[in-house]
Amino acid sequence: MSRLAVFGGTAAVPRPLRSVPWPVVTDADRAAVSRVLDSGALVCNADGETEIAELERRWARRVEVGHCVGVANGTIAIALALAGLGVGPGDEVIVPALSFAASGLAALHQMAVPVFADIDPVTFNLDPADVERRITPRTAAIVVVHLHGLPADMDALMALARRHGLAVVEDAAQAHGATLGGRPVGGLGHAGAFSIQVTKNLPTCGEGGLVTTDDAALARRVRLARQFGEDIEPGTPRDYLCESFGWNAKLNPVQAAFAGSQLDRFDDYEKQRQANIEAFLQRLRELPGIRVPGVPADRTHAWHVLRFRFDAAAVPGAEPVALREALRRLLRAEGVPVGQYQRRSLAEQPVFRDRLGFGGGQPWSSAGEPPEPGSHPVTDAVIADSLVLARNHLHPDSGPLLQRYADAFEKVWEHRDVLRAMAVRP
Ligand SMILES: *Cc1c(COP(=O)(O)O)cnc(C)c1O
Repeated sequence: MSRLAVFGGTAAVPRPLRSVPWPVVTDADRAAVSRVLDSGALVCNADGETEIAELERRWARRVEVGHCVGVANGTIAIALALAGLGVGPGDEVIVPALSFAASGLAALHQMAVPVFADIDPVTFNLDPADVERRITPRTAAIVVVHLHGLPADMDALMALARRHGLAVVEDAAQAHGATLGGRPVGGLGHAGAFSIQVTKNLPTCGEGGLVTTDDAALARRVRLARQFGEDIEPGTPRDYLCESFGWNAKLNPVQAAFAGSQLDRFDDYEKQRQANIEAFLQRLRELPGIRVPGVPADRTHAWHVLRFRFDAAAVPGAEPVALREALRRLLRAEGVPVGQYQRRSLAEQPVFRDRLGFGGGQPWSSAGEPPEPGSHPVTDAVIADSLVLARNHLHPDSGPLLQRYADAFEKVWEHRDVLRAMAVRP
């Protein structure tokens, strides 16, 4: 049995292997960016700008919807989708308690109140039964997050939304290309919101977002909203008339061109990623007490984040947080960069817990009582007993690295006596 790296043994993951770039930047990407710089069309509404419309056209086709609108980032994509669907001051928007803060902030940006619902312990996505319990006469919308890349239970959630007359925005920032029943996410709700921020599965060289929808009127409202509320017809002079409530939330042509170049390789990368990750998870499934993420038969997973839960089958008698911390220490020493994605449920993050907003108590003054601590027990349990891997595995050539990660897990599992000493209170 080889010595654990934490005690001075050789780490399972050799140092030179450890840093894997994401995104992968090729000459084609550089050429795409140069093409924009040379064109002189450096903003969305510049004469002769074509990159944004081209990315929108391609992404709409990829998501199998009629319309796509490029915007400045994924957060504003959610916010503008909510705004376009009529969500406004005092409305309640149901958001999963386990997500990135942006899923909840987007509601606040509309002066709406995020109401957090608990998740399913296996898919980590919204639990439709808990969503239903949190619906009130003020509920206007649900932000459904396809967390980590796995599509949420959209059939149940859409049925719920129909029954209660709610708008549904899919937060697909982590789920590019994932499908449910053969249909891509982003086209399953009333609107989809994607991020193409540099760390996402479809990355640009900075920030960007894409709103997808089959609803032409909604697409038009989002298009106006990104551009000060102006209706700009390509090829006609700008009249500077502000027709509707607007923001400056334009996607930039450089970002669009880079993302478009990445999109050329997206399917190839995705295919390699699926194979790399399946081979990795296959090995972890053999270890007792690790719950590797599963994929229900009707879905595909975009694997933006890999989340592993640990239970007492690994180390009998271990307290979840102590076991998680022991594993974090031992695995990181071996060169596996496991970490936590969300250290607290959104309900417990200061901005939402302390009800911060626009001042004067807005928009919270119209909200009901804040939830009691502990109102999202599944989210809290998942945060307590799981660790995640992010980013390195997105690289199409990460297969060998993931095999070394598997070596590290197996090595740590051979030393469960150490884990026991660290994680079980005598
Ligand atoms: C990244 C992310 C966002 C926000 O996207 P940005 O482009 O960074 O604004 C929203 N929701 C989820 C789940 C995300 O992962």
